[in-house]
Amino acid sequence: MKRLRRVKILATLGPASDSEDMIAKLAEAGADVFRINMSHASHEVLAALVGRIRRVEETLNHPLGILVDLQGPKIRVGTFADGSVELQNEQSFHLDTNPQDGDETRVHLPHPEIFEALKSGDRLLLDDGRIQLRATKVTPEAITCEVVHGGTLSNRKGVSVPDTLLPLSALTKKDRADLSAALKHEADWVALSFVQRPEDIIEVRKIVQGKAGVLAKIEKPQAIERLHDIIKLSDAFMIARGDLGVEMPLEQVPGLQKRMIRLARRYGKPVVVATQMLESMISAPIPTRAEVSDVSIAVFEGADAIMLSAESASGAFPAEAVTTMDRVAIAVEGDDNYPAIIRAQAHEPEATAADAISAATRQVAETLDLAAIVTYTSSGSTGLRAARERPLTPIIALSPNQRTMRRISLVWGLHCVRTKDAADLDDMVDRACAIAYSEGFARPGDRIAITAGVPLRTPGSTNMLRIAFVSQDGAGSS
Ligand code: PGA
Ligand code: MN
Repeated sequence: MKRLRRVKILATLGPASDSEDMIAKLAEAGADVFRINMSHASHEVLAALVGRIRRVEETLNHPLGILVDLQGPKIRVGTFADGSVELQNEQSFHLDTNPQDGDETRVHLPHPEIFEALKSGDRLLLDDGRIQLRATKVTPEAITCEVVHGGTLSNRKGVSVPDTLLPLSALTKKDRADLSAALKHEADWVALSFVQRPEDIIEVRKIVQGKAGVLAKIEKPQAIERLHDIIKLSDAFMIARGDLGVEMPLEQVPGLQKRMIRLARRYGKPVVVATQMLESMISAPIPTRAEVSDVSIAVFEGADAIMLSAESASGAFPAEAVTTMDRVAIAVEGDDNYPAIIRAQAHEPEATAADAISAATRQVAETLDLAAIVTYTSSGSTGLRAARERPLTPIIALSPNQRTMRRISLVWGLHCVRTKDAADLDDMVDRACAIAYSEGFARPGDRIAITAGVPLRTPGSTNMLRIAFVSQDGAGSS
């Protein structure tokens, strides 16, 4: 299960890919982390999928990450007597607190908070932005709107209010129940949708208590305004281009993507680029040129992971979509321009021993053309700092902790292997060499770099860099 690329692939599971057989196929094709979308999955489905992923992991003997994506406070209109209505430009339309079926003049909006927060002049974008309304009058019972761009509005379509900071917690009642189910099933990551403020992350962290990584989905302009604080408080984040492209002018999304990938690097937080990466592969076995280019941009920028949504969850070609991402990533990372582009975005190491060692290790490994960097990481944090350096030398992350291995399988460049704790320094060197050899990264005669914290088993104590020879039988010697 040695990947030939550094960027990771996140595949969403759904009706097209929820069998154990298909999960195995996707993992073999290159999926490193699986996403379970709680907008569509029940708790029974969640339990079944986790069981299947863990059985595949066992068979492949390779850690697989599980990300449970919470739906978040997605706002939706109510229903219409006829299922849908036609809204004409410039007509007036009301969203109100009346739960009865709607018609051409009004529809129920079952979210009382919005009536408090929305101001006259604010925009309302419906159905992924296809319909645009502008509020002209807001009372506690009704929002009067002018239809700016009309169209067909049908039952329960989503509503975005990009100009309004909503007094909503990022966790709904459903999210709380889903979150506790996710923790019960030992999800490695929980993703939080429609994050607006740093406090949203703090609230979730209190519940999660370190049992899973907390990933913030950046899909609202309010989150863009507080980006630094949100990133610092999260364990990882996602550039959720689907909703972001509705809530912000679409043409701003590529620039924001670049900015966010660079911030991820600066703070050493994993970043996922998501949505429509290979959209046409939902129904075709090959992608468009534009999609290949889009995937390549994320890889050239050094994103930690690229994500498939409907392509792997409900499309006709889930395995082909993973294979396509894998091939594009391998080609980009082998491109002559790739090392220079990645290096140009390097950030100064922070003033910690772990960062200083990671930076030195990259330099030593590249200068001496070492076969691999082997890093012992119990909590995963040293693995993250090693990845932040984006070394050209492959990184093998070793940990006795299976939960750590699964969690950091989302991180750029980390080939994760579970191993027992080393007994002493010699054992550590031997073990690192043996694993670099058996995992196919080093041959006899090659040299590797080893980083660890001494004394052993003290988390966050990385302070050692050692160079070792891989001997004939794959054992080590210094
Ligand atoms: P979603 O998130 O698929 O859960 O909406 C991703 C996005 O908005 O891009
Ligand atoms: Mn979204």
